[in-house]
Amino acid sequence: MKNITVIGAGTMGNGIAHVFAQYGFNVLLVDVVQSSLEKGLQTIAKNMERQVAKSALTEEEKTLALGRLKTSTDLTTAVSSADLVIEAATENSQLKLDIFSKMDAAAPAHCILASNTSSISITKIASATKRPDKVIGMHFMNPVPVMKLVEVIRGYSTSDETTRAVIDLSIALKKVPVEVNDYPGFVANRILMPMINEAIYTLYEGVAGVEEIDAVMKLGMGHPMGPLRLADFIGLDVCLAILRVMYEGFGNSKYAPCPLLINMVAAGKLGDKTGEGFYTVSRETKEVRISPAFV
Ligand code: NAD
Repeated sequence: MKNITVIGAGTMGNGIAHVFAQYGFNVLLVDVVQSSLEKGLQTIAKNMERQVAKSALTEEEKTLALGRLKTSTDLTTAVSSADLVIEAATENSQLKLDIFSKMDAAAPAHCILASNTSSISITKIASATKRPDKVIGMHFMNPVPVMKLVEVIRGYSTSDETTRAVIDLSIALKKVPVEVNDYPGFVANRILMPMINEAIYTLYEGVAGVEEIDAVMKLGMGHPMGPLRLADFIGLDVCLAILRVMYEGFGNSKYAPCPLLINMVAAGKLGDKTGEGFYTVSRETKEVRISPAFV
């Protein structure tokens, strides 16, 4: 495998493009929004600069890696010579089905079609293609250049060959692949999202404030980030979309998203990506404070 196409240049897409370019793959980064591509490239350059400062990358390796990155707004041509496509577009079921149907029509027969979805059924996504044996979940964690885990999700028809190839590829990126089966939320979000949702309920019901809830989980449970800070980092729209998939998929009220989360997403307070969620993050200084709504 040499040519990797990454669909979506948001929080995850730019991180995925970053690691593939860093480890020697040719990367084509695709988005429907030109400004997202520009922002994505800037983020990659900035993050590689940080790696150079920490001696995790040499200046020469950084220049070579950046040279392997190209961008496009045209999905059809961008997948035409790909060995593997990894889709990291917005967490929306219909959108992903459309993207996979288009990719299936335009990608070479040998190409593996992977999704970075946090919760949507890989089996359902594969049903939009004529190659369900080559469709798989390759779930990176945020921030991708830092986090070691890749949750590898086998759909109902994913072949052993495809699974092996994605496991080998994850190892080539110096990640640790963990194979799981295809049920809503897989393993990572099945466990993480109910905790985040419960933290939001705890705030909504007035049990404690933002700072107190996060302090309890950091100091008491040894979590590096409190659940509300983590929700902002992931994106509140992404958290809501995942909870809705699990609520619908299991038909169990324990996954019902907290009304406060629904309201915040409706108000456009999506966390770090919009500068405000449970916390505000200064665009200039990156200083994090409790959002005025929760002081
Ligand atoms: P994001 O909102 O930051 O970025 C999504 C990008 O997809 C945007 O730039 C958007 O313009 C682009 N896009 C939308 N439609 C497109 C299309 N048809 N073709 C190409 N690009 C398109 O979202 P994100 O947080 O990067 O999430 C992307 C995927 O990764 C989702 O499936 C999400 O569940 C998953 N994920 C997110 C996290 C996280 O912490 N945010 C972690 C693991 C997995």
